[in-house]
Amino acid sequence: TTNEMHLNFPSISANEGFARAVVSAFAVQLDPTLDELCDLKTAVSEAVTNAIVHGYKDTIGTVYIDCRLLPDNSIQIKVRDRGCGIENIEQAMEPLYTTAGDERAGLGFAVMKSFTDKLKVQSRLGGGTTVTMEK
Ligand code: ATP
Ligand code: MG
Repeated sequence: TTNEMHLNFPSISANEGFARAVVSAFAVQLDPTLDELCDLKTAVSEAVTNAIVHGYKDTIGTVYIDCRLLPDNSIQIKVRDRGCGIENIEQAMEPLYTTAGDERAGLGFAVMKSFTDKLKVQSRLGGGTTVTMEK
């Protein structure tokens, strides 16, 4: 049997640090290096921030995190929102692409990609977004 953890919280920015701390505390059982743990926290932060600032742009909704350990001793983290969704995922994932004008760098997905081993983004316009990462 495999270990897993689920976390739901409202999309307020005070919960960003909370979410990354919880995921990091769960990941410690895999005996990661400090570097690995740091990378994981950064990737989770980016996904959670996106759910808060883009997914639930003008509203407060629930952010869902599903974490589980995989048989090969890696961890899978899903960060999900039921917000506005992404119209063009491929474009959204391009480095420097942002819909936030000059407020944001457009590097969140690039960071998630380079700081994890696997990144998958699923989204439906009006239905929400799920980011799945493995490390
Ligand atoms: P940065 O992460 O550098 O602050 P950013 O958030 O704009 O800037 P990315 O994280 O790479 O850059 O995301 C790129 C774009 O994808 C966003 O500008 C937004 O349009 C869209 N996006 C990302 N996540 C979501 C989401 N959960 N819901 C809706 N749109 C999203
Ligand atoms: Mg971002």
